[in-house]
Amino acid sequence: MGYYQTSIITGPFNMQNRSTSSLRRRRKALLRRLPNLEQILKGSLIERYKRCGKPGCKCAKGSGHGPKYYLSVSRTGQRPQMDYVPLEYYDQVEAYLANYRHAREIISEISRINQELLRRREKL
Ligand SMILES: [Zn+2]
Repeated sequence: MGYYQTSIITGPFNMQNRSTSSLRRRRKALLRRLPNLEQILKGSLIERYKRCGKPGCKCAKGSGHGPKYYLSVSRTGQRPQMDYVPLEYYDQVEAYLANYRHAREIISEISRINQELLRRREKL
């Protein structure tokens, strides 16, 4: 790890140059920005167009019917799991995915702050 920790939410943040009290303030501020953890989803939205296979359907020549959306969740050592997402869920799924990424960034930054406090032999 370099001196600059880059985060989408916060931009570069130079931890080593911050005072201990500033680190603690930042930790509190990060916590307040944590999204509602009931509203998270891990994975990504995939857009698909599918050919139905019916003889004479116009989709045979074009790109297929769609777009249809799938939630793709990767699993270690396996193919990603793909679940169909009905259109009425699209906005919510997108928001939940963003919440998950946001929460993960916040958690990892809080962890880095705690790591720095530990290095300084400060109270965690
Ligand atoms: Zn078709």
